[in-house]
Amino acid sequence: MTNPFFRSPARFRMQVFGLIGNPVGHSVSPPMHEAAYEACGMDARYVTFEPDPGSIERVVDGADALGITGLNVTIPFKEDVAAAVDTDPLAERIGAVNTVAFVDGPTGYNTDAAGVVRAFGHHGVSLSGRAVVVGAGGAGRAAAFALADEGMDVHIANRTVERAEALAAAVPNASSGGLDGLPAALSDADVLVNATSVGMESDETPVPKRALHAGLAVLDAVYAPLETRLLSDAAAVGATTIDGAWMLLFQGVEAFERWTGRDAPIDAMNGALRDAL
Ligand code: NAP
Repeated sequence: MTNPFFRSPARFRMQVFGLIGNPVGHSVSPPMHEAAYEACGMDARYVTFEPDPGSIERVVDGADALGITGLNVTIPFKEDVAAAVDTDPLAERIGAVNTVAFVDGPTGYNTDAAGVVRAFGHHGVSLSGRAVVVGAGGAGRAAAFALADEGMDVHIANRTVERAEALAAAVPNASSGGLDGLPAALSDADVLVNATSVGMESDETPVPKRALHAGLAVLDAVYAPLETRLLSDAAAVGATTIDGAWMLLFQGVEAFERWTGRDAPIDAMNGALRDAL
């Protein structure tokens, strides 16, 4: 693969990376990525953009024409970008792109999936056995495919049961149900991911405390607040807890590594991210 760091004719000028979404004003990706550039001695900037809905194809073509090295993609454009660029097989199965690399044309990736896997790996959690993913939106899809690809049996629980069923039909060895089935589904589970927005800026949890146990490793995709009700309930029963900033960190780490072909300075990125949150 061509290393985009040496992409001609950009070789001797500042590299530009960015984020498209709406809104992106409060994104913590710029400080996280710019900390990486500083740690690596790169002449690079990370810029946020709020394009109009319906302009995604022009945005991608324009970024490519301008020699932008890489873009992250967030709500509400992840599915639109997946439809507008060639995608790698995992992003195609997930149906959403959060990272575009411009090497011989734009290619879309989904690094939220790696964010889930690497967050668990960083905490020494072995991804074998049974996983429960709560949520069937973008984050739920990424988590379910990622954990199934690691060889786990995945159960998907969602408020709207039909969405869980549709996702389970696409994910290998997956089952599905509603939120009321969580206590039974979690009784023999090893891993739990909250991929709903429940708990964001609130003291709510989608999982009853009585369903949690010490044998679980719990990742909450929600990162505002860092200590959600779910994570404090999980800690209280002795479970391993992993906050949403770890997933956010490792999706960014994975994007940086795809864009630059080099190992990311994880500690620098983590420090900047946690300072910004
Ligand atoms: P999304 O596509 O809009 O999906 C939202 C999910 O939350 C759906 O499964 C939805 O269920 C469920 N939900 C919403 N309100 C609910 C409620 N009151 N009770 C039960 N379930 C509810 O959103 P997303 O992109 O997947 O994001 C989900 C969360 O993950 C957000 O908090 C986001 O910030 C976070 N996230 C974090 C990272 C990270 O790196 N840490 C990355 C991506 C996303 P229905 O299908 O029934 O509507």
